[in-house]
Amino acid sequence: MGGYGSGRKWNAKSTVEETNRIDIRWLKKEGCLRPGYSGTISWSCNGSNTGTIAARMAGDTFILNYNHRGRNGEWSPVEQIIGLSRSECYFGGHRLWFQCPRCHKRVAVLCGAGKLFLCRTCYGLNHASQHENEADRMLRRVRKIRKRLGADMNLFEPILFKPKYMRWRTFERLRREAEHTYSLSWEIAGQRWGLVL
Ligand SMILES: [Zn+2]
Repeated sequence: MGGYGSGRKWNAKSTVEETNRIDIRWLKKEGCLRPGYSGTISWSCNGSNTGTIAARMAGDTFILNYNHRGRNGEWSPVEQIIGLSRSECYFGGHRLWFQCPRCHKRVAVLCGAGKLFLCRTCYGLNHASQHENEADRMLRRVRKIRKRLGADMNLFEPILFKPKYMRWRTFERLRREAEHTYSLSWEIAGQRWGLVL
């Protein structure tokens, strides 16, 4: 790689996802965020190289250059310019973040799951998106029960009335299930947003 400085090795073995990720904390530790940095970043998994990209600092941006293999099997060069933003630390100094090129959210990790390096959420890779699906699934279940009971479809409203044809035991069981599932869905959604409920 002519023109580029020292190479950096990234051991991808410990990552959960099978994708190549860049972590801003790791870059900082390796000195890749200092002004004028230019070098390569490589990933390896079980000893074999799973990707190499060229990276450089330019002002408030981190620029990646690499070749991406498309669905048709052909390689094409990609240049991705990633904005960096800084947040002040409580005890002085600052912390650097990537700005996800798609959603512009501040993130510490970008994943190269497709052509571009984007945040986990944009690629639907994180546990949070699984939780979201789980919460959605729960809310669907709650709506189904409410419909069966002829209850108000506003999920905040209590379920009050037993349908005439239904046995009390069945009604109580379904009502409990709807209420329990509803509050559980909130807990899961809360974990997603880091809320404590
Ligand atoms: Zn994103």
